Order: sequence, then structure tokens, then C-alpha cells
Amino acid sequence: MKFYEATEDTSLGYTGNLDDAVHKWSLPGAQPCPTCRAGGGITGLQYPCVDLSSLPEHELKKLSDPWPVPAEELARLTELVRPFVPSWAVLKPGAAFGPITGKGINRVGDLFMQTPWTLLLRREALEQLQSSGLRGLQGCPIQVSFRGKNPPELLDLQLRLYGRLHTACFPPDLKPPCPTCGNPRDKRLPDPIILDAATLPTGVDVFRLEEIPGYIFVTERFVDAVSGLGLVGVKFQEREAR
Ligand SMILES: [Zn+2]
Repeated sequence: MKFYEATEDTSLGYTGNLDDAVHKWSLPGAQPCPTCRAGGGITGLQYPCVDLSSLPEHELKKLSDPWPVPAEELARLTELVRPFVPSWAVLKPGAAFGPITGKGINRVGDLFMQTPWTLLLRREALEQLQSSGLRGLQGCPIQVSFRGKNPPELLDLQLRLYGRLHTACFPPDLKPPCPTCGNPRDKRLPDPIILDAATLPTGVDVFRLEEIPGYIFVTERFVDAVSGLGLVGVKFQEREAR
């Protein structure tokens, strides 16, 4: 099986955008680590199908503010959210939940990437891809108001996390992770990305890379289905898996 990285394709003029678009709730960022100073949030941990609206208002307010909080408070909020998320979800600072809210510009293709880590599909496109047998496609509504007539009905994909980068794509002088917080101290991303084939999923056709969740990958089956149906808005670049 071949694997591809999905990125936005504006070549056909699909330059739509969601202004100030954020998921409704998120875990706050982490305060800087005393050893390596890393803090803030992780990009790409998004669970748009999670509904936290039954939590008390004062907690939802805390889950609407990305400002870093002490580790104890972060742990408390993480446990508060855990019963609402799928068992496979990775919960780290900055993890986002619920529908994207904001305003939109309606020039989106069948598939639309708001950011490299946010893949949305028009409802018709999602249904066509599901009917063609693709696995792992769960889309949830967004709360974005579009100007003009015929606003697109976009669904935000809730993607599971799988897979690691192959050790061969890291430089030999890679620094070990921080002994205090476990965060990587070397922020350089491998170029080119090589995937560790043994860690890639066999039962889904679209997923986030667990090691770098800001990257979305699809299988050859996904690329073939998109191209067979003539769907546009996203391009795919093959990445070596070994
Ligand atoms: Zn650290």
C-alpha cells in the first residue's frame, strides 16, 4: 500500500477560507517546562465530533481559553474532558473539541483544507467517498456562517492517530527528548518525511500521523477514489514508507 500526504490545492481557484475559525473548545496550553522551556499546545489534535456542551458553564469557559495553565489544572481539565472523547483519543495541551466556529468565504472545493491539519469535505463528497468503500471517514458539522447564497455544507473529519516516522529520516545528531517533559528538543522535521511502514494502519484510508498530528495522510485507495470521482480541492504527495 502506498501512502500520501494531503495538502491544500488552490490551483483551480478554490481559495476559500474560514476567518477566525477555531474549534469551540480546547485544552489550554502548558506552561513552559523548567528544563527545556517547551510549552503551549500541540497542533493537530482535533476531535470535532466531541460534544462538551453538558459540562458546567464555568468549566467550558476554561476550555475556551488557550492561555497556558499550571500542570495540575491542565491534568484536571484533561480528566474532565476524557469521558466525552473516544477511547483512542490522544489528549495533550491544545487538543481541540467540538465544531469549528467562525465566518467563511465560499470558494471551497469538494475537499477543503482550512489548515494543513484540518480536512473538511462537502457532504456530497463525503457520502460519495463512503459509498466507494473508504474506511475511517467520520465527519461532523461545523458552525460557520458563509456570506452569499448556497453556503457549502462542510463536515470536519475526526481522524484517528496512527503511525510514526521512520528512524532513517532523522539526522544522526538528533538530540534526545527532554528528560523532564518528554518533548522533542530537536524541532527540525525530517525532509523528506519517511514513514515507518510497520506502524501504519491497515483498516482506515485517512488518518493523522500520531508522531506529528499536524500532518494528514491517506492511502492509495483514498487517492484513487478522489480522482475516480473527480473531486477537487486537495492534492496528494506520495511519501515513502519503509
Ligand atoms: Zn522539557
